[in-house]
Amino acid sequence: MVDFRLTNEQQELQAKARKFAQEYMIPYAHYYDKTGEFPRPIIQKCWEEGLMNLSIPKKFGGLGLGSIEQCITVEEMAAGCAGMTTSIYVNTLGAEPILVAGTDEQKEKYLRPLTEDLKFASFACSEPGMGSDVAGIQTRVKKEGNNYVLNGSKFWITNAPYADYFTVFASLDPSKRHKALCAFIVDADTPGVKTGRPVEKMGHRASTTSSVMFRDAKVPEENILGDEGKGFGIAMKTFAMTRPSIAAFATGLARAAMEYARDYVNKREVFAQKLREFEVIQFKLAEMYMKIEASRTLYLKAAWTTDNVGDATISASVAKAFATDVAMETASEALQIHGGYGYIDQYPLEKLFRDAKLYQIYEGTSEVQRLILGRHVLSGYEPAMEKIPKWYNNKPPDF
Ligand SMILES: Cc1cc2nc3c(=O)[nH]c(=O)nc-3n(C[C@H](O)[C@H](O)[C@H](O)COP(=O)(O)OP(=O)(O)OC[C@H]3O[C@@H](n4cnc5c(N)ncnc54)[C@H](O)[C@@H]3O)c2cc1C
Repeated sequence: MVDFRLTNEQQELQAKARKFAQEYMIPYAHYYDKTGEFPRPIIQKCWEEGLMNLSIPKKFGGLGLGSIEQCITVEEMAAGCAGMTTSIYVNTLGAEPILVAGTDEQKEKYLRPLTEDLKFASFACSEPGMGSDVAGIQTRVKKEGNNYVLNGSKFWITNAPYADYFTVFASLDPSKRHKALCAFIVDADTPGVKTGRPVEKMGHRASTTSSVMFRDAKVPEENILGDEGKGFGIAMKTFAMTRPSIAAFATGLARAAMEYARDYVNKREVFAQKLREFEVIQFKLAEMYMKIEASRTLYLKAAWTTDNVGDATISASVAKAFATDVAMETASEALQIHGGYGYIDQYPLEKLFRDAKLYQIYEGTSEVQRLILGRHVLSGYEPAMEKIPKWYNNKPPDF
């Protein structure tokens, strides 16, 4: 059976997130975009409203919601402010390796506190010298007695200066690539752990990004996630769980861009007519609408797969690659419809345009998604045609 309707509970959650975005995000998005300040009051409110950390199981004090709920919530919030939503959602990304590979003791110690107070978990995988090539991690880890000792640097880490803990990926031996990767939970106040200054960014300016350095940082052995050498698999499973949400972020941003354009064409007159009267403009809106509908369908399929089947790697890559391209294209076209006004900060389009770009970069670039999908078509995918029938120059028999 295929059913595209949301349940009553999902619709209520969606309405709550939509109201939150309209009351607490959109009115302050320009301020945080201009100043680059960390939007702690908004995130605090989001936490109080119960719109954060949705995937933490009930057993550990959370709401135990699935990927579909996560996605419909972030679509609404990203339509409000992409940067704030990234800072809010990074807790889910940071906590996901613990959900994927943590023991009950680790979950109790590190997930429950996120539900009891506003705390931050950051995901520390990328480094100055690598992002796409996760197996190329250079941060080193060595076992010494009852501790693992970390040395190296991470870069681009969202919320790093505010993090209470990090989920960190490091290598026992970089020459062994993915086989040597390990994942750890590292408390931010561990001696030898230091965060850098926030970097100035083109978009998502309401989310703080900085480096994290590890200098002989001793992590107790009980903080390893899974076994030694399992870090690569944990990172990939984490991305498969979180990429549907990035597709949902992108869908929310694209939807907002389309709605701003729709509003504008109803007001703006050119050549003595409302912009809405021109077929070229209607076609632009139609393109946006079709692609946003497709993006939403794709992220819902990926989220449904996560919730009901398990591994959503392929559908998550499809959704992420498609929806993030749609967000970039829609933001650009919606800006174009605004003409010069699209280019200045008195309208939200120039911010949406800057924010959209990041979706094609983080959590696996658009090219990386296509690498995954290209390999899938060539080796994982089961062709519908068992054998390709002979095509050329067949004379029909008497059926
Ligand atoms: C604002 C921001 C926030 C971020 N937050 C986090 C975070 O919280 N935690 C975290 O761990 N990381 C984070 N990242 C890092 C992000 O995930 C990486 O930037 C991303 O994975 C790309 O890595 P890179 O920048 O090193 O680019 P590279 O891997 O160097 O890639 C450069 C270009 O080459 C392309 N490319 C790479 N490999 C191939 C290939 N095999 N074939 C074809 N093309 C290829 C890429 O698609 C890209 O276009 C963040 C990044 C930004 C900008």
